[in-house]
Amino acid sequence: MRSDGRKNDELRKIEAKVGVISSADGSAYFKIGNTAVVAAVYGPRELHPKHLQDPEKSVLRCYYNMTTFSVPERKSPSPGRREIELSTAIKRALEPTIFIEEFPRTAIDVYTYVLEADAGTRCASICAASMALADAGIPMRDLVSAVAAGKVKDQIVLDLTKEEEDTEPCTDVPIAYMPNKKWITLIQLDGEVTAEELREIIKLGIKGCLQIYEIQKKALKKKYVRI
Ligand code: ADP
Repeated sequence: MRSDGRKNDELRKIEAKVGVISSADGSAYFKIGNTAVVAAVYGPRELHPKHLQDPEKSVLRCYYNMTTFSVPERKSPSPGRREIELSTAIKRALEPTIFIEEFPRTAIDVYTYVLEADAGTRCASICAASMALADAGIPMRDLVSAVAAGKVKDQIVLDLTKEEEDTEPCTDVPIAYMPNKKWITLIQLDGEVTAEELREIIKLGIKGCLQIYEIQKKALKKKYVRI
């Protein structure tokens, strides 16, 4: 049993909603435990300045931001190295799912704002962003679902909280996954594990992604399917 009462293979409580910002082309809200993210997508739209355009494909630009009030100590609004790294990680996780070659000379802009942070914000951002891309009507191979799994002390666990991440020793493995294609689009590892433990962690992460996928689809259907 974990400190919040979850089993080792249990996700935190999830809320997902599509279409939360009327002025965006696509948007979504994704909350997992006490980590909440809102994502807004603009585009595909003509990219300016023109020298940044790619005649072969759309340029996907991702911007990860943490609001000043998302953590106990006020977070500086200016993007630091962490935000820049996470923006790149989110772009890499999302790019394989988008048919970017269908929109040459354009940009697709994905903004994610962390409203509350209790670990797992990059994964929550990927989940929200992929729903927002679908909401924007951008042709995609699949949704991308993401969650971290890892090892806390000697236990392999799913969906770590900040308290668990701060436990020593702890290994955190964020995983982004396209369930239909069975493609892992992002995997990062912070800590130390054996190859056998890593296999177990990846299996558990994918199991979590499959559950999240159903919740993402349900949120999209809620907006688009009239019963
Ligand atoms: P992720 O949120 O994807 O797990 P990190 O491992 O970098 O990414 O961060 C883990 C957690 O640490 C965040 O979710 C947040 O709860 C906390 N955190 C990150 N940056 C800050 C910060 N500047 N101030 C306070 N807490 C932070």
